[in-house]
Amino acid sequence: MSVNNNQPLRCIALLCTCSVLVLWSCSENAHGFQVSKTDGGLAIRWPTTSAGFYINPAGAPSAGLSAIQAAMQTWINVTTSNFSFVYKGQTSSTSFGQNDGSNMVCFGALVGAQYDSTLAVNTIFFNGQTGLLSDSDIKFNTNFTWATGNSPDAYDVQTIALHELGHALALDDLYESGDTAKVMYGYCDPGEIKRFLSQDDMDGITYLYPGGGTTTTTTITGSCPAEFVLGQDHPDLQQLRSLRDGLLSRSVVGHRIIQMYYNNSDSINAAIERSPVLRDAARSFFETAALVMVKKQ
Ligand SMILES: [Zn+2]
Repeated sequence: MSVNNNQPLRCIALLCTCSVLVLWSCSENAHGFQVSKTDGGLAIRWPTTSAGFYINPAGAPSAGLSAIQAAMQTWINVTTSNFSFVYKGQTSSTSFGQNDGSNMVCFGALVGAQYDSTLAVNTIFFNGQTGLLSDSDIKFNTNFTWATGNSPDAYDVQTIALHELGHALALDDLYESGDTAKVMYGYCDPGEIKRFLSQDDMDGITYLYPGGGTTTTTTITGSCPAEFVLGQDHPDLQQLRSLRDGLLSRSVVGHRIIQMYYNNSDSINAAIERSPVLRDAARSFFETAALVMVKKQ
């Protein structure tokens, strides 16, 4: 491995849609991966468990299109995550790096000294308050030589696509010596092939988008205790639903809490009915929880 040829895969340009540019990486090293977070500490994610991408193959080596689709499929195949990349077809658009809600992969020369050693860029846009992604555009730097076979002198499209799609999930680069085998490692050599995910890469997508083999559909069997205590038109209910759908439902533990809450709602409501003290405590609890969500937004 020649150090001189060891080129950064970077970079990920995190563009915040509502205030200043935010570049805040929060270490999740205990898990062997890193996720991007807002300055408020929320993990950056897509609002749904899929993201569609167009591909502009102009400038790509032969079979570049299918190499990128194969990389999408590799992330989709992680059985512990319910996230899906969706290939939306070819495009001739060159609107790279615009927050237009249309995600794309393209090839072209990255101009500027800051890109001299950058193989590819992924520009992502997200809401600075909620952390929700709205756009991701990937560009392969054609100042370098690309291939889809096993060329020792060129960079492998599928390898780098897999890495850049990891940024599209809001996973960050890794630079430690123990990270070299991971797809999210931030450097790559010519001829280096890394078309499979390491367990840490899979843990990363699973952390952000858990699910997959198991259903995460919430079954609402009873009436909602918060509605029962606060009344059906209370403004805090909207914040509580945001707490449920925006935060709790995104983790396995949070999902269990939601499920327990609804499964036991009838007995919770009956207990509240019997005890004015419990009713006051429950009201205070729900109002505090709603306030937490207001502060997060
Ligand atoms: Zn990177």
